[in-house]
Amino acid sequence: MTGLAGLRVLVTGASGGIGSRVVERLQAEGCVVAATDIAEPEIAGVAYAAAADITDEDAVASMVAAAQVSLGGVDALVAVAGIQVTGPTHEVSAADFRKVLEVSVMGTFLVARAVVPAMLRAGAGRIVTFGSTAALVAAPELAAYAAAKGAVLQFTRSIAAEYARRGIRANCICPGGTMTLLLAEIDRHRTGPDHFREGHPIGRYADPGEIAAAVAFLLSDDSSFVLGSAFMVDGGYTCV
Ligand code: NAD
Repeated sequence: MTGLAGLRVLVTGASGGIGSRVVERLQAEGCVVAATDIAEPEIAGVAYAAAADITDEDAVASMVAAAQVSLGGVDALVAVAGIQVTGPTHEVSAADFRKVLEVSVMGTFLVARAVVPAMLRAGAGRIVTFGSTAALVAAPELAAYAAAKGAVLQFTRSIAAEYARRGIRANCICPGGTMTLLLAEIDRHRTGPDHFREGHPIGRYADPGEIAAAVAFLLSDDSSFVLGSAFMVDGGYTCV
């Protein structure tokens, strides 16, 4: 893919099932990667690794500043970190609902806010946030997650429109079921013909590498006219 060699990319949620594959793919494409997660990621070959809770404003500000110093700048952000809570909505605690929103919505906002000023000064930047099919279609017993992902999508569309003419290209990737620990936890609660996997016309879940490939495309110059999209990588889940 074009435009990835030498691109300096900050990845949140870098230790997770999808995030770790994003880091791996971007490194293979020649990107210089800064990896962050709630505990310091242990990933070979990254230019910078640090622990930061993305719901903590001060921690995010210092992590992004240190990544910018270490990499000499940040050209792109991939905001992967997210959590879910599964269960009947009337049984979800206020604390759990709030936490899901805090990590996905506030976390994505805080990290994006920290990287945008330098992107504006450079007149260029690329941002990929993480939505889900749940950003667009109903997700029973995942209402907090769906609310958070819907908000991430609208946040991303808004900044995409706001900064488009100043060189920043933002998109929200919306994966279908992808084989990670997060999905395994959701799956524990779903049985029978309504099983999540059966809703995917392709008949299977994604390998995390398939999501990482789409992230690489969205960061590359090959997607130069793709902006503000809910970029579905969902095995057809939302087309039926
Ligand atoms: P995962 O649980 O494997 O990874 C999520 C990562 O986020 C973890 O490493 C975790 O430590 C990190 N994280 C959580 N809270 C954090 C915080 N406060 N600060 C910093 N880091 C924090 O999950 P995954 O399946 O790799 O999911 C990655 C992203 O993709 C999430 O945003 C998720 O909602 C989204 N997604 C996943 C699927 C799927 O089926 N796996 C589908 C659609 C969207």
